[in-house]
Amino acid sequence: MRLALDRPELISLAAGFTDNSSLPVDLVRQLVDQILSDPKKGQAALQYGTTLGSTELRIETANRLQRLDHLAGVAKSPALNEEQLLITQGSQQALYLLLEAITDPGDIFLVEDPTYFVFLGLLKGFGIRTRGVATDHAGILPEELDRKLDQIEKAGELDKVKALYLVTYAQNPTGRSTDYDRKKQALDILRKYENRLGRPIALIEDAAYRELEFDPAKTAPSLLAEEEHRDRVFYLGTYTKPFATGIRVGFGHFPAQVLEKLFNLKGLHDFGVSNFTQVILCEALKSGAYEAQTQKLQARYLEKASAMEAALKKFAPSNLTWEFPRGGLYIWATLTDGQSTGPKSKLFERCLDQGVLYIPGIYAYAEDSGRQRPDSEMRLSYGAADLPALETGICRLCEAISDQEVRTEH
Ligand code: PMP
Repeated sequence: MRLALDRPELISLAAGFTDNSSLPVDLVRQLVDQILSDPKKGQAALQYGTTLGSTELRIETANRLQRLDHLAGVAKSPALNEEQLLITQGSQQALYLLLEAITDPGDIFLVEDPTYFVFLGLLKGFGIRTRGVATDHAGILPEELDRKLDQIEKAGELDKVKALYLVTYAQNPTGRSTDYDRKKQALDILRKYENRLGRPIALIEDAAYRELEFDPAKTAPSLLAEEEHRDRVFYLGTYTKPFATGIRVGFGHFPAQVLEKLFNLKGLHDFGVSNFTQVILCEALKSGAYEAQTQKLQARYLEKASAMEAALKKFAPSNLTWEFPRGGLYIWATLTDGQSTGPKSKLFERCLDQGVLYIPGIYAYAEDSGRQRPDSEMRLSYGAADLPALETGICRLCEAISDQEVRTEH
């Protein structure tokens, strides 16, 4: 993000910034006008809120989650209890809080191979070790999860395993979504080991890009769809990506038994998220404007993903492959000849010279001694760049890859 800001001529396919042109400027101005022209509403919005977050927003969120599962084909998902919801400063804070609440240094987290690299940094900061589990187009591979847990048990470390972290919709970085059956199979496998362990292993479902899937009719239900999962799954959602990233409001639906601890920690952090932004969101949700904005963003990002893919089709050399994402902000691309894409590679350097940035894929892999971290992939974001810049950026990247001077570094 810093490089992108310091060198404005650089085309950043790296930073997770979102599309400027579709941010809801007029809509938010109207909502703010509406809120502040009613003195009572305006005063309430500009007052401190509560640590848990606005009750109204929690109820709207519970309803929305139920509706999303309904749209995903779950006809009879029982109503969610808003008391299990905590409003947070983006879902990033929910991730932080849950680590603070449930982990100890030396714990082990199982994560997807590859996964959200910022979360890997967070885990490292908490002194938590990570093990990567292989995935395919439908999400985590249950047999690989089983194998990994078996290895850990044989090494005498099962008691250190705290959680499995899954980014289940239009994943960062691969753009893939996890099938509902896979999520349930993963839970079953965790249960098998829990029985031996005598305590639960948490399953964290990070649904940050759920509402940015391009085809909502094909979106899978979340684990919250079934009541029996609600007291053991940590579900994290956000209003930033599907509405406006600057709003910084997210939430977690947590097992009842950890709520008090999370509530106390949240109080120590900040006494609760900005009341003003929560009121804006609530009004947007109630009026249907939120829904309209998410649909607009889905269409916009589909347009941008398609533009990036069209440029890849036009310029990519034969050693570059990629997969069209289910939604979200990223295309995950691979150099099939094993060329390094790492931060110290010739390719990365050359891309900087050409004025284009990407995220090296190696960052998205846990430091797991059981395998080498793949080093020939890259995350290409179509979030921030406009359509002409996307084409120019991909053209520069492909030129850098094709350049004869580029050699595998190691
Ligand atoms: N989870 C994932 C997988 C993400 O990619 C991000 C943002 N890049 C977040 C959580 C946090 O987003 P926010 O705080 O805006 O909700």
